Amino acid sequence: MAEPAPEPQPLPAPLPLPPAAWQALDTCVHCGFCLPACPTYRELGSEADSPRGRIFLMRAAAEGRIGADDPALRLHLDLCLDCRACETACPSGVAYGTIIEGARAALRQREVPSVGLDLIYRGLLARPGRLAAAARFTAFAQRAGLTRGRAVRLLPRPLAAMARALPPLSGRAARTRLPASVGPAAGTPAAAFLGCIQDAFFPEDDVAMVRVLAATGHTVAVPRGQVCCGALHVHAGDGEGARELARQNIAAFAGTGGPIAVNAAGCGAALKNYGHLLPDQPAAAAFAARVRDFSELAADLPPPERAVPARATYHDACHLAHAQRVRAQPRRALDAVPGLEMVELPESDACCGSAGVYNFTQFDMSMAVLDRKMANVRATGADTVVTCNPGCALQLRLGALRAGLHLRVRSLCDVLAEAYGVADGQA
Ligand code: SF4
Ligand code: SF4
Repeated sequence: MAEPAPEPQPLPAPLPLPPAAWQALDTCVHCGFCLPACPTYRELGSEADSPRGRIFLMRAAAEGRIGADDPALRLHLDLCLDCRACETACPSGVAYGTIIEGARAALRQREVPSVGLDLIYRGLLARPGRLAAAARFTAFAQRAGLTRGRAVRLLPRPLAAMARALPPLSGRAARTRLPASVGPAAGTPAAAFLGCIQDAFFPEDDVAMVRVLAATGHTVAVPRGQVCCGALHVHAGDGEGARELARQNIAAFAGTGGPIAVNAAGCGAALKNYGHLLPDQPAAAAFAARVRDFSELAADLPPPERAVPARATYHDACHLAHAQRVRAQPRRALDAVPGLEMVELPESDACCGSAGVYNFTQFDMSMAVLDRKMANVRATGADTVVTCNPGCALQLRLGALRAGLHLRVRSLCDVLAEAYGVADGQA
């Protein structure tokens, strides 16, 4: 007797992508030009870890041909750095960032909310006071020697690595050190965005940015109600969390004029995207139009006069070069510094592996990507590497430790503060 025909299996529920992600999906012609630009494809050589492979997987999930809970889908999407090098390489203009962020948001909606992630994104990043307390505690731990030697071996590997790479922290957030307005009373108006992690852990860059702008004739507003930009929330798929933060920032900067200067590339990219994040709010598009990376302003300042003697190279942060298309301005600002010999970095716009919290969640791949970056830095013979993103700076410090390189990692703000004579300890 013939076996009964097997019951047809129901198709998995399609992953609900937002319309913008669908539109972007439809522009991919599968040519593969993006593959050599992708850090994970370069490391693993597998199609599923390339932009084209991930686009294929996301389309399959959106059409219900594979399940959203398929482990392969999560594996390959989680390994994506969201560096957007594929966008720069793509001749068809595929907005890959829109697709991956849409897919991550849709995946997150299907999950049981993670208490740990909620604590980090909503309970820590969105609360400047708590972040500042975390920075003060870390500064205390550094002074007590708890971030060196045997003590760090008790930490998980990614945390231990970052603890070793952290520069000495002051624990004094820029928002507590800067008045509400800095610079001449009737200067060119500008406003400073301080960031969350940036302000708590790297406040010296914010202070340096404000001082350089003030020294070059700007009256810089430092709005008190500003909060985290929401970039990490978007990357993790927490769109509602990001929108709430965007509304607070738009309100905080409403009374200010001129460009909104920001010195963290990831924050700048997120702030410039507020018009898309809140499409029904004209104030969001108006806010986004004012946002400038600090390098975009610095490139047009009168040249500094003080020498900064060093042989330096410049690392393009992904969210500045690929997401904001800002490449020439930081180089122009650095070229104008007397005494600074600039050497071009091979593969300068390749990701360093930091990528938000990627160096915590995908430590091994992050280190593989970083080691390639450091081999390129070594080849320049530079003693200094300059970048425009605090996450990259920390990752590069770790890379220098791993590679045994005597390298000074500096932000553009820090270099220019010295060149304009407004760094700590200068007249
Ligand atoms: S993303 Fe762009 S470069 Fe990559 S396969 Fe699609 S069309 Fe080609
Ligand atoms: S965003 Fe970066 S890691 Fe992700 S697919 Fe594109 S190039 Fe690869």
